[in-house]
Amino acid sequence: MRHITIHRLYFTNSDCFKTSKHGTPHGIQVHSTGANNPYLHRYVGPDDGLLGPNQYDNTHNRPGANVCANAYIGKLKDGTVTIYQTLPWGQHCWLSAGGTNGTPSANAQGFVGFEVCEDNRKNRDYFMDAVMDKSVNLCAYLCWKYSLDVNAVMDHSELHRLGMASDHGDISWWLKPFGYNMSMYRNEVRKALSEGVCVTYIEGDKTWTDGPEEAEPENPQEGTTVNKQMIVTGDGYLNLRAEPSKSATSIGKLYPGDVVTVTQEFSDGWAFVNSSAGQGYVMEAYLAPVPEEAPEEAPASDELLEWLGKAIDANAALTEALEHMQILLTGAVG
Ligand SMILES: [Zn+2]
Repeated sequence: MRHITIHRLYFTNSDCFKTSKHGTPHGIQVHSTGANNPYLHRYVGPDDGLLGPNQYDNTHNRPGANVCANAYIGKLKDGTVTIYQTLPWGQHCWLSAGGTNGTPSANAQGFVGFEVCEDNRKNRDYFMDAVMDKSVNLCAYLCWKYSLDVNAVMDHSELHRLGMASDHGDISWWLKPFGYNMSMYRNEVRKALSEGVCVTYIEGDKTWTDGPEEAEPENPQEGTTVNKQMIVTGDGYLNLRAEPSKSATSIGKLYPGDVVTVTQEFSDGWAFVNSSAGQGYVMEAYLAPVPEEAPEEAPASDELLEWLGKAIDANAALTEALEHMQILLTGAVG
């Protein structure tokens, strides 16, 4: 599992925030700024204490700015590389300008977009951190969140070739000096997506997480308390698991005929049991009620006769023994 932090600072002063349409993202547009200034405060403000001030008051969070991204990746004033979300993910950004030959722009087609703040494109450490780590993980998170195909992750230059954006060379012009291209970039996004990306959002003094596994836990399922003996059925063994999930760790094995005590039942088919293999969860479909104790069977008639025969023999032997004892006691010989 990968982790990223996203600071949320919506551009409420921008025309884009006030007027742009909302809709579900259909793709991702990857941009870099094309200017040598890796500091976020050039584009993102007002200063929250981490960004540092913009002395020219020319961030994209101002009326009249004709460019506005959903997010920016760059340096805080202390040099830390991080991500700022500046529009809701579903709001159309202003990054690709007009499409060509009547093709709607990537903005209009609902491609969520971000800018990575460029430096002089010669610093490998910054490139690996901002582009190949933060931006790749952001793409993977958005692909997960909106079920986007990784092939719908495209840079400005690719979108231009498709007639969906103005003629710019970003971000490919920054990948190339470090030996990458957009298909390699997408492969990195696939890798991140398969590992899963969990996000910690920070907005003022509020924080929360979002991601494939470490999302806010849903209310744990309430089980029904029971107390009943069940017997393990089936042909093979039954896994006793640490959690009520087929992917949970197996902590023991139960075999057909083993009797367990079910103490909780869950609506999705899991049961919590006490067993000879310990306590844990099993699929209740593999348990059956313990059969009623069968009544003591009456012996069959020939068996009864055999038993009677032995009893008679025993009786005869006993009589003989008693007689013998009497002889010993009385000294009488009959
Ligand atoms: Zn661009």
